Amino acid sequence: MKRATKLLAATLAMVTAACTLTACGGGSSKGEAITFGTNAEFPPFEYVTSSGVIGEFDGIDMAIAKQIAEDNGMTAKMENMEFDSLLVALQNGQIDAVIAGMTATDERRETVDFSTPYYTATQVMIVREDSDIAAAADMADKKICVIQGYTGEVCVQDMGYSYEAFKKGTEAVMELVNGKCDVVVIDSATAQKYVGDNEGLKIVEDPGAFESEEYAIAVQKGNTELLDKINKSIDKMIADGSINELAVKYTEEATEE
Ligand code: GLN
Repeated sequence: MKRATKLLAATLAMVTAACTLTACGGGSSKGEAITFGTNAEFPPFEYVTSSGVIGEFDGIDMAIAKQIAEDNGMTAKMENMEFDSLLVALQNGQIDAVIAGMTATDERRETVDFSTPYYTATQVMIVREDSDIAAAADMADKKICVIQGYTGEVCVQDMGYSYEAFKKGTEAVMELVNGKCDVVVIDSATAQKYVGDNEGLKIVEDPGAFESEEYAIAVQKGNTELLDKINKSIDKMIADGSINELAVKYTEEATEE
């Protein structure tokens, strides 16, 4: 083979290999995208800001999603939707994965597969500073607010208490601030953010009543190809401490102001 021909052959081989790796084709020249679904109402994990790490989306999860895509020579796209719609959108293929501070529960495992967990959280109670609620059992005769579809709702349900469910954490917290409810049950890091943002609130923990939860990324059942990519990246980010760094960075940012 002449040199130029050899070079051309080598280039073609590389292009073919790259295409196989990223499953490009279809005329697309940039790396394939992973379309993540989230609910950007959950600081410090996901929220909307003027300039986030993925478009207008910022937070711990958004930085993780971006890194997963980069590690695999892909780009990360984010679709923002209601928390309740995420697993349905995943199942019908509208999105490839869910990254939304989502707790890997046995119930959810019935319909989707979860990645290696990347963050441990727990449910806590946000109350007004003068509240006499000191444990989960004290919620018995109180007005409880939860966020629809969150694990906090399931916890309160399991305790047998009645409650009111809101679509957004901020709405539930406003009810509390305005004295229309007595307690909001929500994930720990997000609770800290809301308590930092609003005067006169405090957090009450009850580890005996609320089990610890692990956040993980969801993919369609059986999508081992994507799950392997995600897990490799998460394992690396856990091992090199970058998830920890992100958690510290965004928690500090979220409680500043
Ligand atoms: N961790 C909670 C859950 O999985 C809340 C998640 C969220 O609101 N983004 O239900």
